[in-house]
Amino acid sequence: MFSINSIFVLIVGVAAVLFDRRIQKSLVNLPRVFCNAMSVEAIAGREERCLDYIRTNAEQGKPQSVLDAIDRFGWTQEWLMNVGETKGVILTDELLKKQPKNVLEIGAFVGYSGVRIGMSLPVDGHLTSVELSNKYAGIARQTVDYAGLSSKVTIVEGTVSTVLKDYVQSNGLPPFDFVFIDHAKDYYLSDLLYLLDNSLIAPGGIIVADNIIYPGAPDYREYVNGHPERFRTVEHLTKLEYSEKEDMVMVSELLH
Ligand code: MG
Repeated sequence: MFSINSIFVLIVGVAAVLFDRRIQKSLVNLPRVFCNAMSVEAIAGREERCLDYIRTNAEQGKPQSVLDAIDRFGWTQEWLMNVGETKGVILTDELLKKQPKNVLEIGAFVGYSGVRIGMSLPVDGHLTSVELSNKYAGIARQTVDYAGLSSKVTIVEGTVSTVLKDYVQSNGLPPFDFVFIDHAKDYYLSDLLYLLDNSLIAPGGIIVADNIIYPGAPDYREYVNGHPERFRTVEHLTKLEYSEKEDMVMVSELLH
C-alpha cells in the first residue's frame, strides 16, 4: 500500500523532473539567443576594433609591428580573414624571390596583406589593391598609413572587371608582374580570366591565390591545374589563418 506521503513525494518528483526539463530547455536556448546577438554585434564592429587595436598596440611606421598586432588580434580577440602569419610567409617568400615592380592585390580587407606586400617590395615597387567594400578600403588605407607605407600602396575601390582597366590606363601602368588573389572565392576564376583576356598580367608574372581549400575555390584550382602549358603551379598545403583548419595557397607562374 502507498502512503499519502509516498504518493505526495512521487507527484513532487514527477513535477520536478518535468519542470526541470522545461528549465533545461529554456536554459539551452538562452545562450544561443545571447550568442546570436553577440556575434552579430561582434562582426559589426570587428574591423574598427582591429584598427583601434593596431593603434593601441603597434608601433607607428613599423610594418612588422602592425602585422604582429593584427595577428595577435586575430588569435586572441576576434577571427579575421587575413592571409595571416603562416600563409603570409609563403606570400612574402614569393615577393622576395620575384622582386616585383607592379603588384595587384584583389581584396584588401583591413590592409594586412597590403602591409605585408608593401614592406616586401623593392624600392621602386608599388601595390595596387582593388577592394569592393568602401568600408574595408577606408580601414585598409588607415592601416597602411599607420604602417608608413602609403607611398607604396594604393587602394582602389571597385572590382577588377569594373575599375581596373581604366585605372591601369589612366596611370600608365604596365601589366602586373605579381598578383595576389584573396577576395570573394566565387570570383577567383572569372577575375583571373578577365586579367588574362585584357593582358593585365605580364608573361612570367606570379599569381598567388589564398583560401583554395577553405572557404575554397575549386573551379579556379581545376582551371589552373588543367592548363599546365600556361601555368607552372606549386600547391602549398597549409592552415587557415588563426585556426587549425586545412587550407591551401596556390603559387602559379604565368608562362605566356
Ligand atoms: Mg584569404
